[in-house]
Amino acid sequence: MKASNFEVLVVGAGPAGSLAAANLAAAGHDVALVDENEGPRSRIICSGIIGLEAFAHFDLPRESIVDSILRVSFFSPSGLEVPYCPEQPLAHVVDRTQFDDQLVSRAVAAGTCLLRGHKARKTLVTDRGVELTADVNGGQQLLRGKAIVVATGYRQWLHKQLSLGSPPGFVQGTRAELPIKLPEGAELYFGRGFAPGFFAWAVPRGHGTAGIGLLGSQGGKTLIKELLKTDAIRSRLNGDGFASSGEHGYTIMSRGIVQGPVDPSVADRVIAVGEAAGQVKTTTAGGIYYGLIGAELAAEVLSDALRSGKLSADSLSSYQHAWRSRLDDEIQGGLQLQQLAKSLSDRDIDELFRVLQKDLAPRLRQLVSFDWHRRTVRALLHARRIHSVVEGAFLSR
Ligand SMILES: Cc1cc2nc3c(=O)[nH]c(=O)nc-3n(C[C@H](O)[C@H](O)[C@H](O)COP(=O)(O)OP(=O)(O)OC[C@H]3O[C@@H](n4cnc5c(N)ncnc54)[C@H](O)[C@@H]3O)c2cc1C
Repeated sequence: MKASNFEVLVVGAGPAGSLAAANLAAAGHDVALVDENEGPRSRIICSGIIGLEAFAHFDLPRESIVDSILRVSFFSPSGLEVPYCPEQPLAHVVDRTQFDDQLVSRAVAAGTCLLRGHKARKTLVTDRGVELTADVNGGQQLLRGKAIVVATGYRQWLHKQLSLGSPPGFVQGTRAELPIKLPEGAELYFGRGFAPGFFAWAVPRGHGTAGIGLLGSQGGKTLIKELLKTDAIRSRLNGDGFASSGEHGYTIMSRGIVQGPVDPSVADRVIAVGEAAGQVKTTTAGGIYYGLIGAELAAEVLSDALRSGKLSADSLSSYQHAWRSRLDDEIQGGLQLQQLAKSLSDRDIDELFRVLQKDLAPRLRQLVSFDWHRRTVRALLHARRIHSVVEGAFLSR
């Protein structure tokens, strides 16, 4: 079997893997970025919504932006609306294929060796380094490195082989793209009829299309079909586009999204980043920004570790400490919120919307942050009337 040697193997060329590879290469390391796809990955199951803070912090590629979210309307089960109009766009919507490809190009420009069409199959960690066997063109290739960065999303077999932990849970994300104009911006729908315990969304994607999606514990495809039948969506379907793509012309795609930290996210010579580490918001299941934060921290710690030759799990644990200190409060807060949301009936949610409409709507601008939700949730729960609705829901369980 052919063998190639590098200093670091980064497996997975999603946003987290590409940023980790780019930063390690820019720090002077010899990096291979390995991905199973032959070319830019298409059909990525993601709405591609990324907040402005992430764009600013990471100078993210703007060429991939297809739309921006200028306003969000929240809808209760009975149709009560709470509008939120920020002073500047809340987030951009990107084409994930282009976005990922541009981050890959940045990694290559920084000096990374890109190995597309390499599907990782087997790994081995020894005292001297890491070996990765990949399927390539019907054959196999052996890649060697001093360390490996796992950026594949959660892969049970790979995590087990590399002594990484598993996440405490998953949520199912489901989406479809349809010809719907949303001139008023994004819409979020709450209630058991839409997405029990979670929420559904409609997000503009430019050119008169929208991404429709929802989170749930299961049955996402059935729930999406029901959502498409509701007046809210059906009445705004652009007839021509829908007819030409055919009633069943749209594709509904679904996958599990990690919820909660993967512990441990380091092992001897191994670091997990992005969804592979559980760096995902547990309020909205958005994983791009938190994954980039994790990747940036991982590259810093791994670069130092490579220079000092100290690559044990103990030495790399400062990465786990750093990313958990930054993100854990948010992740744990979101998991608690999920429990709370599951206990609310549609009537409770309607009541919360009434309180929001009456007492809190003018304060939303100060309360809402696209990426950091714990403060918002805490402030809302401290509002006396919200607190009493939530407490009532808990007591009646
Ligand atoms: C319906 C839905 C909507 C979402 N919407 C949003 C959103 O609007 N905003 C947001 O921030 N997040 C969203 N997310 C979550 C987001 O898509 C992920 O959290 C994010 O893509 C994780 O990035 P990553 O770099 O960790 O991994 P990924 O983007 O999953 O990249 C992993 C890469 O590893 C490669 N790979 C996997 N296995 C192997 C192997 N064995 N060998 C070689 N390569 C391999 C894959 O092909 C892929 O290229 C959504 C998720 C879903 C399901």
